[in-house]
Amino acid sequence: MPFINGLNMKSIISAVTCILLISTLSSCSTSTTGRKQVMLFSEQELSKMGAASFDDMKKQIPISTDKPTIDFVQCVADAITANVPKSAHQGEWEVVVFDSEQVNAFALPGGKIGVYTGILNVTETQDQLAAIMGHEVGHVIEHHSNERLSANKLSNIGVAVAAVAIGASDVDNKGLWMAGLGVGLQYGVIMPYSRSHESEADIVGQDLMAKSGFDPKASVKLWQNMDKLNNGAAPPEFMSTHPSNQTRIKQLNQHLAQSMTLYNQENRPQCKKPKVIPKPPAAKNKTKK
Ligand SMILES: [Zn+2]
Repeated sequence: MPFINGLNMKSIISAVTCILLISTLSSCSTSTTGRKQVMLFSEQELSKMGAASFDDMKKQIPISTDKPTIDFVQCVADAITANVPKSAHQGEWEVVVFDSEQVNAFALPGGKIGVYTGILNVTETQDQLAAIMGHEVGHVIEHHSNERLSANKLSNIGVAVAAVAIGASDVDNKGLWMAGLGVGLQYGVIMPYSRSHESEADIVGQDLMAKSGFDPKASVKLWQNMDKLNNGAAPPEFMSTHPSNQTRIKQLNQHLAQSMTLYNQENRPQCKKPKVIPKPPAAKNKTKK
């Protein structure tokens, strides 16, 4: 029975995958912190995806109507987005406060920012909210969704190639090979991305908040607050287990010396955090029972 051993099979797959990658790569560049990036989608495509996702969320999640809360979030967002390089987004940013107890926030390509009221109970000051927003917008500045989508696309190509190659020889073990390759791609390509993306967004975000007139030291305090939440478990957007809160705090502390040189104290924003952030309607009902 003809049988291609594991080593040969692997080299065939990687050779074919390489050819495919070379023919489909449309962009290879370097991030601010010096990482090599593979980006297969255009900024236009990403902006479209960002806008469509944001529209979906606006339909599905209640939106806050509390003016003091909206004003506070908008004030911080205005200061932060004023310092975003035009290469990351041109034009207006749309900022929405979602009425949800979730401790969460995000930014999407195409100039979209979502802040959940739940996170405003963790951020004690305008500076701490700026640390969150700096981090989120940092993901956009560094094109992380493009990289993440590209990694997914590449892993799909890899799996498809493997299926064709395996189909010709060892049908019985097809499932095993596929799983092996999928896991390999998942941990080898996708997983490390999210780890390094989080670190990069922390660093880029700290610089961005400082440039925008917010005290970069607040980013350290913010992560200490986050760490106290749920016995150290990170809230949704930050849920990837890496880096751990302690690693982040260490890294942010190390980067402070540099971001302090960017701290634009003369133009410190005056965003007033409301004394009370109203609870979402569903949460109000729950507490009544
Ligand atoms: Zn993040």
